[in-house]
Amino acid sequence: MKDIRRDTITGGLVIYSSSRKHRPHDKDKEKKIKEEKEDSLFKGIYDKDCPFCMGNEGQNNEKDRIESKGEWHLRSVDNKFPIIDNTQKNLYGVHEVIIESPYHDANYYNMRKCDFKNIIYMYIKRYKDLSKEKGIKYVNIFKNSGSSAGASLDHTHSQIISFNIIPSEVQKELNVAIKHYDNTGENLYDSIIFSEVSYEHRLVYNGKYFLMYIPFASRYSGETRIIPKNDVRFEDWKEEQIEELSYIYDKFFEKWEESQGKIPFNVIVHTNPVNDESLEYYRTHIHIIPRKFNFGGFELSTDLYVCSIDPEDLAYELRFK
Ligand SMILES: [Zn+2]
Ligand SMILES: [Zn+2]
Repeated sequence: MKDIRRDTITGGLVIYSSSRKHRPHDKDKEKKIKEEKEDSLFKGIYDKDCPFCMGNEGQNNEKDRIESKGEWHLRSVDNKFPIIDNTQKNLYGVHEVIIESPYHDANYYNMRKCDFKNIIYMYIKRYKDLSKEKGIKYVNIFKNSGSSAGASLDHTHSQIISFNIIPSEVQKELNVAIKHYDNTGENLYDSIIFSEVSYEHRLVYNGKYFLMYIPFASRYSGETRIIPKNDVRFEDWKEEQIEELSYIYDKFFEKWEESQGKIPFNVIVHTNPVNDESLEYYRTHIHIIPRKFNFGGFELSTDLYVCSIDPEDLAYELRFK
């Protein structure tokens, strides 16, 4: 079955090509996932040549840290190769790297809830600081994990960049949300939550503060999204909400590894633009995107993407309570 679908958040068109066949029991894949899982068990290793490992703090200019008993858990440092800096008038901002662990072998597949909690706290802390600077309109947070997802260093890290402009991908999402609000009088994200909860089959997790689901259409096969249920700006998220999100990360990456193996991925946190009035129609949300597939000429020439993963099947596989 082939079908054309529109992504509810980005407005992009996706060619949906469902196989809906029961895939044969793949013994090799199962074996590979098991081996990778053993490989990714946390041992607490340092690499003396890694600039992000404990012991090499002097190699980076630190902006912030989370620590206890004199030992740091996370550090935010200046990116040595910033995409954006403050040397130009028409495009400026700050580019930091958030080092998410002092250990070289920590990763999202072996981290625990308390680690994710610290990561989200650091995101919010740095967001608050960077968004205060003069002329900043948007603060972008993302993570690359694995070289095919754009990570140049193995050591687990995220990046945060402030801009004097609103990036076009966010502007596209804002336009979709404004249109929905004008047509229905409702916040797009509330409408998505309502329809996904009613339909049920694409839900991965339905909590007090967050909904995690597989979108009906996404240009990235296998993408998962997280939407908060309350209308609160990202920088105002409270303890209980952060607690639930950390739980979701912990469970999700465990389930994801069981079903897909240790695949490269991106995490994107789309927040409301700084100090604007968009909360009525637009809301912070998170995209978790597997990077198993590369795009070819078809996608690049048409801006059409082919999705072959059945969202209902994937949601069923990943669902947790
Ligand atoms: Zn390291
Ligand atoms: Zn988004």
